[in-house]
Amino acid sequence: MADQDQGLIVVRTVADLRRTVASFRKQGRTIGLVPTMGALHEGHVSLVNGALDRGDVPVTSIFVNPTQFGPNEDFAAYPRDEQGDFDKLTAAGCRIAFAPTKEEMYPGQPLTTVRVAGITDGLCGPLRPGHFEGVATVVSKLMLMAMPDRAYFGEKDYQQLQVIKRMVHDLAMPFEIVGMPTVREADGLAMSSRNRYMSPEERAKAVALYRELNNVAKAVRAGTSATEATGAATRALLAAGFDKIEYLTVTDPDTLVPLERVTGPARVIAATRLGRTRLIDNIAA
Ligand code: AMP
Repeated sequence: MADQDQGLIVVRTVADLRRTVASFRKQGRTIGLVPTMGALHEGHVSLVNGALDRGDVPVTSIFVNPTQFGPNEDFAAYPRDEQGDFDKLTAAGCRIAFAPTKEEMYPGQPLTTVRVAGITDGLCGPLRPGHFEGVATVVSKLMLMAMPDRAYFGEKDYQQLQVIKRMVHDLAMPFEIVGMPTVREADGLAMSSRNRYMSPEERAKAVALYRELNNVAKAVRAGTSATEATGAATRALLAAGFDKIEYLTVTDPDTLVPLERVTGPARVIAATRLGRTRLIDNIAA
């Protein structure tokens, strides 16, 4: 067994993961799982910090999950930098990196998947058929492999966070789901592994997304209808050089049902295209 007092332990099989987690549990430690697809940035590191802050031994999984990508999506092009990821995890104080192969995660052809209905009907659901089923299934597997006390997810992927919370509730999974705030660049752009797809010109334009989410939030809080506020923001984004607004919606923060008037908690959520990059973001209204 590798040194238990410091450093990052890299494991590649479920058996090794379970053995390593068990050795920490024997010391009375709690476990915090951070599922990722790698190409790590400060947003991911904030999830590791969330685990450390709660006293958990952080376990970060790095797996570009093929089942959550559509046939015309960026699975093959998705950035991969395993050594860079291990270096960042070591610096962050993560203790276990679980980096399985596709064969380790999916031995044989699975007949079982996890599908969360309703909450996946809107927003990214219809635009990315099969995506949330792929996410719910792989997150279920990762949690059952690591058996953490808590699992950490970013609000950056807000619909994903709600889907996972609902799945854990509905299936009585014994894991606490912790949602963590979105980490942003200095100009407000939400950090994302996909940001590196952008040219410098696109990167300069991308800041408009956060600006317009804030404009919508301010307007609907002041009593403007969601239709009017999102209409103005959509026009502003297209004028700023965005190629497509897939959706820009004000929703209930838990059910993700669209709201026309904001009288209580609400979320402003958007998915856009800027060149070949798909940018998503959201904020509280
Ligand atoms: P990904 O590697 O993109 O699948 O993301 C892995 C986890 O990191 C998910 O729970 C994301 O929501 C979270 N995450 C990604 N970007 C950020 C960010 N900018 N701030 C906080 N969490 C993030």
